[in-house]
Amino acid sequence: MVDKIGSTLNLGAFSDEEKKLLRTDFSYKKKMSKINKEARQAAKRDTCYFCGKPCTSFCNSHSIPRFCLKNIATKGDVLTLNTLVDNPLMDTEKGVEEAGTFHLICNECDSKIFSDYENPDNYTTQPTPKMISQMALKNALKSISKRLFEIELFNITAKISASARGFTQVKNNINEIDLKEYEVNYKKAKKAVEKNSTNDYYVCYYEKLDYIVPIAFQGSVALVVDFEGNMINNIYNPSPEYVIQNIHISILPLKTETVITMFIEDGDKRYRRFYKQFNKLPLEDKLAALTYIIFLYSEDMYFSKSIEKEVAESQTLCNAGQTSQDMLSPTPFFDPFETLKVSHDLSKRHEIPNLLSEKYRIL
Ligand SMILES: [Zn+2]
Repeated sequence: MVDKIGSTLNLGAFSDEEKKLLRTDFSYKKKMSKINKEARQAAKRDTCYFCGKPCTSFCNSHSIPRFCLKNIATKGDVLTLNTLVDNPLMDTEKGVEEAGTFHLICNECDSKIFSDYENPDNYTTQPTPKMISQMALKNALKSISKRLFEIELFNITAKISASARGFTQVKNNINEIDLKEYEVNYKKAKKAVEKNSTNDYYVCYYEKLDYIVPIAFQGSVALVVDFEGNMINNIYNPSPEYVIQNIHISILPLKTETVITMFIEDGDKRYRRFYKQFNKLPLEDKLAALTYIIFLYSEDMYFSKSIEKEVAESQTLCNAGQTSQDMLSPTPFFDPFETLKVSHDLSKRHEIPNLLSEKYRIL
């Protein structure tokens, strides 16, 4: 069973039989949480990632602002992607206090560096460049924190299980490359926040809906294909010079409305065709595309119990939620991009419930 631990991050990797066993014998979940705890401990730093000052008690930073999660929570709880991935070792429900949190910076920094964008009163108009930079900074920190944790998790897994060693090594080689790229993104965002610059990011989409959507999301994703099946990022390009470009998406449910923003680093030309296609779509279609993209590319969205049934029953959403780019190992016999084009085909957005549309509004 220990060998399985290495693959728990491969979403939906359990057979029905294994799921049944894991649900009835709690010792596996206990073991997993012990390993998670060890990995968290090993990944813990002794200085604040932002100011560099010694730190023992890190801030419980939220990747999605707490005030947004509260607006979609039921009795303080929100649902996770595991609602459809159905991994018995992972949580399907999370309290707002622990949803999407990371511990990398000190309390003083957390209260300062995100203060503009984390103030719900600042959303009467389009987010300012300062707010956008703060979002980018948060996204980079969250990604760094996640990679630091995963690297330790795989190190521990390799120690426990000899047969998982090859797999963990491959995963950690990728993690190290990702980490370096996130550090570059972080430095850029940090500079933008500190200099209060206005031209580091380009907002390619902004929308304010006059209702609350049941999904909260904030993060950056690396899209692989656009609406016409053209390549955006070639994730199989082995060249160290080839840098993956991310697009930032935020879906923030406020008290009575929702603000959606999509932005890129200024100069990231790979997304130009994508956002031009996106902006031509009617609003309903844009919302369906955004829903599909976040389920397909990320595991960091949280949603309301009000849509639990719709999410769990949509086969296309379940497939999207379980799609992992790692599963497609390139072989000389087929073109991996052709496979990616099919698995990441955005026209599947027409097959899912349009969860950001008014039909599913919370208020
Ligand atoms: Zn600090």
